Amino acid sequence: MASTLGACHFCLMIFLPYSQIINLFNEARWRMFQRKISTKDVQFLEEYFFYFARLQPRYKTEFLNKLKDILTRKRIIPRGDMRQVSPELELLIGATITMVTFGWNSLRLNHFHTILVYPDEYYSQINQTYHRGEVNPKYGLIILSLKPFLEGFIDPTDGINLGIHEVAHALKLAHFIHTDEEREFSPKAWETYKKWVPDEMKKIRLGLPTVFRERGGVDEHEFFAVVVETFFEKSQEFKAYNPKFYQTMVYLLKQDPLVLLS
Ligand SMILES: [Zn+2]
Repeated sequence: MASTLGACHFCLMIFLPYSQIINLFNEARWRMFQRKISTKDVQFLEEYFFYFARLQPRYKTEFLNKLKDILTRKRIIPRGDMRQVSPELELLIGATITMVTFGWNSLRLNHFHTILVYPDEYYSQINQTYHRGEVNPKYGLIILSLKPFLEGFIDPTDGINLGIHEVAHALKLAHFIHTDEEREFSPKAWETYKKWVPDEMKKIRLGLPTVFRERGGVDEHEFFAVVVETFFEKSQEFKAYNPKFYQTMVYLLKQDPLVLLS
């Protein structure tokens, strides 16, 4: 019996790529340990998560099902002096991923399986600077620091939200990672998005009137993350500023917050 099982595993190793083996094991783990969303969790989201609170009632069940799936699949781990990640913090992180990917039926950003949470800005040995957050595609990590992450929720309409920002980085990277067996942007929507980038970045760099914050002028990655923050937190202003670019983002992210929220 043991040898049959061993041989079976061996066959898997030979015929399946490594990423598929990992996916199979994860799939089994998710089925066994489903994260539940309690009434208390829903009340917490209603109170502290702007997007969920404003989401039209008919979309709320879908949001909660996707959130449950994401929380079941992701590992959220404390780092630095952080002792533990509270269930409330897990909800805020999971709900941020759910919000950014809400337009897709089954996109869960599988490549980014682990979220590390530091208590505050942390020193990154890789580029020898302090960081508020980053995304590491090599190890499938999204890294957040708690203080600026929570500050992002204080004003949900200022276009500054570290959680949205880092998930947007992960989403853009995932679009170019093909081993995750997920399909992110439609090629046509991505091509249309790219046409807006040079002119809009130039406006930020020249200090001309724009709806996007300065950080977006750093490079194309930062620009995308800032555009996604603006899309969710300043939807109305973004649409008034450039309706065609706003519509491009609606196609790209497969959702329109101005329609979904009331
Ligand atoms: Zn960034």
